[in-house]
Amino acid sequence: MLDLIRTCCRAVIEVLFPQCCLACGVKLLETEQIACSDCIASIPRTEHAILENNGVDMLFQALFQERKCRVRYERGAAFAYYNRERGKNLRMLIERGKFGNHPHPQVFYFLGRLAAQEYIDSDLWDGVDLLVPVPLHPYRLRARGFNQAEWICRGMSDVLQIPIDTEHLVRVKNNAHQSRSRFEKRAENVENIFKISYPEEWKNKHVLLVDDVITSGSTLFSCMRLTTPIRGCCVSVFALGWAHN
Ligand SMILES: [Zn+2]
Repeated sequence: MLDLIRTCCRAVIEVLFPQCCLACGVKLLETEQIACSDCIASIPRTEHAILENNGVDMLFQALFQERKCRVRYERGAAFAYYNRERGKNLRMLIERGKFGNHPHPQVFYFLGRLAAQEYIDSDLWDGVDLLVPVPLHPYRLRARGFNQAEWICRGMSDVLQIPIDTEHLVRVKNNAHQSRSRFEKRAENVENIFKISYPEEWKNKHVLLVDDVITSGSTLFSCMRLTTPIRGCCVSVFALGWAHN
């Protein structure tokens, strides 16, 4: 009897609130979640995981050179393009996940899993000891209720079986309006906003820093440069989207 009531309730909920694709709005099949197969298939992959010296690598190598920074950088990649036309579906999913009426951490879990599954046979994750999400300022964390980078890591971690470290990389001040700044200003904005607490915990570790989108690279760069004094610590970076034309 209880099972019957449960089934009826579920059926009523499904009719009243059908699960729809967060990118295009079509009703999802029972086997789909978050986005429909068509939208997932049309996300424009970068193939960074199989390209040596891909665009993300080149972006960071140029930043290290320009800012005279000796980071032990291993590799970098973004899952897909994020710019307006080509990356429309990914952009829509990320924006709805972050800013919609009901911000939705499962979007990021889903995309983190998807990216890890698709790149599971690449050497992108080789030797990585820790997945480290770029932290949100506590103020934004309170406002949104979750850190999207952490949920991307959760999805990746479930596939890759690599632990997540949310303890040691911390944000010490908020950088509001960052998206409106140009790179120079952004670089200043993010210059001293992160710190690594108990850096000895990262000694001889390969850390994969994870964020949702790479734009100028200044946020990930600021995190990476903090690892330079830590003996034997090397870093890689991964993001869902790359805002590059
Ligand atoms: Zn769709």
